[in-house]
Amino acid sequence: MLHANDWLRLRLIAVVVCLLVAGFGITNVISYNNAAAILKSTILHNELPLTGSNIYSEVQADLIRPVFVSSVMANDTFLKDWLLGGEKDPEQVVRYLDAIRAKYGVFTSFVVSDATRRYYHFRGGERVVSSDSADDVWYFRDRSMTAPYEINIDYDESSNRTVTIFVNYRLVGYDGRFLGITGVGLNIESVRNIVERYHNNFQRNVYFLTRAGEVTVTSDGGPKTGETIATLPGISTIASRILGSSEGQYEYIRDGETYLLDTRFIPELGWYVVVEQRQADAMAGLWHGFITNLWIGFAIILVTATVVAWVVTLYHRRLSLLATTDKLTGLANRQAFDDTMLRLERSGRRTSRPFAVLLLDIDLFKRINDTLGHLRGDEVIRSVAQHTVATLRRTDFVCRWGGEELIVVAYDCDLDEAVRLAETLRAGIEMAPLRTPDDGTRVTVSIGITAWRTDDTIDRILARVDRALYQAKRDGRNCVRVATPPTFPAEAAA
Ligand code: GH3
Ligand code: MG
Ligand code: MG
Repeated sequence: MLHANDWLRLRLIAVVVCLLVAGFGITNVISYNNAAAILKSTILHNELPLTGSNIYSEVQADLIRPVFVSSVMANDTFLKDWLLGGEKDPEQVVRYLDAIRAKYGVFTSFVVSDATRRYYHFRGGERVVSSDSADDVWYFRDRSMTAPYEINIDYDESSNRTVTIFVNYRLVGYDGRFLGITGVGLNIESVRNIVERYHNNFQRNVYFLTRAGEVTVTSDGGPKTGETIATLPGISTIASRILGSSEGQYEYIRDGETYLLDTRFIPELGWYVVVEQRQADAMAGLWHGFITNLWIGFAIILVTATVVAWVVTLYHRRLSLLATTDKLTGLANRQAFDDTMLRLERSGRRTSRPFAVLLLDIDLFKRINDTLGHLRGDEVIRSVAQHTVATLRRTDFVCRWGGEELIVVAYDCDLDEAVRLAETLRAGIEMAPLRTPDDGTRVTVSIGITAWRTDDTIDRILARVDRALYQAKRDGRNCVRVATPPTFPAEAAA
């Protein structure tokens, strides 16, 4: 069973642990939430847009050279002369186109004559563009455009219908008359490379969408080419917003996961670039730190609780020792005697096993104090205490009752034994080398004795033993006296 003091200690430790848990827990959760909110905002409003605009810049940079090369071709006098000269010897123009392709490392190069509608490209073999063919719509669109060129993403008819980014430049004669369209084509691979590079470097999904929201080029982990965001789970909820503005930052939930994304329209391509990140991936480091902090907090709380428990136990022991020990003699004090007697009464020990109580008082101690001084008086008290402890059994309880009086509880001891014990004690002290110097008188003690009786109380025992001691003093001191009846009613009255 736990003692009241143990409960107090447990409660103190529990309060400390609760305070620490609450303190650590709340500060950890608050700082994690703050950091997560800041991180999310940084990703959504800084990092993803930065990646998006970098990709945009790279795509633009990739397009600058082909646009430049196409403009050189559109202004080339050889091409103009050759077209105006009636497109004789197509070999010449094929060589020219192939040289351009090889020199600038583009995927394809071409020229279309408006006079003959012939489409020449670097590999030779011409065909005729027709206003009836859906594949040639671009030509008739660009033929009448006011801008000098258009970037068009299309299938390359002369190259297994590879998706190609064409730069279509208007070619006009010296008199400003429209002669045809020339330009180069870039393999979509260059865009795909950008997408993959950004995906690998930043662990983000990067993909391009047409104006209609169809996925054209995508990194690993992004949606599949040909899918349309309006029908994809999660992102479909924001599809119209994405396609309705030239740039924006959004978030959506798919399969319980939050995704953050930045979108921007690239007018040169007519495509949107989307940079997307799973929120949990971005927060993984933060979450890991949060868990680590919790463990550290847990360890600190454990250590603190242990230290608190240890310190409290230590101080409790010291305090209870102080509270129950007599400073002068090192014996138990009256508080400890009361505790002992209370325990005896509670445990019912007195009903099953006998015990005796001895009250010992140093004779004429005032005289010792007066002649030798209080310090020597203290020494005498100490010596008598030591002698008493040495004479008794280890299990017996000795306590300084007050002044120069000691009280003894001798366990498993009936009255006869108690008398023998008291006599031994008395004689021993008388014979001990505790002479006072001036007149050579010895230090002696008087002892009162009583044994437990059925239905005894502490007060009755004390009253009897006190009376026995008083009797010893009256009988001339340096002797042992047993408490004599009167019986209980009279005692109770005393
Ligand atoms: P009696 O034989 O009747 O007991 O005579 P007594 O002189 O011993 O008388 P009493 O017991 O009344 O006096 C006890 C004295 O002990 C009184 C007090 O000044 C002294 N005393 C009490 N405590 C201490 C102590 O801690 N140290 C010292 N030196 N003296 C103490
Ligand atoms: Mg006294
Ligand atoms: Mg005395």
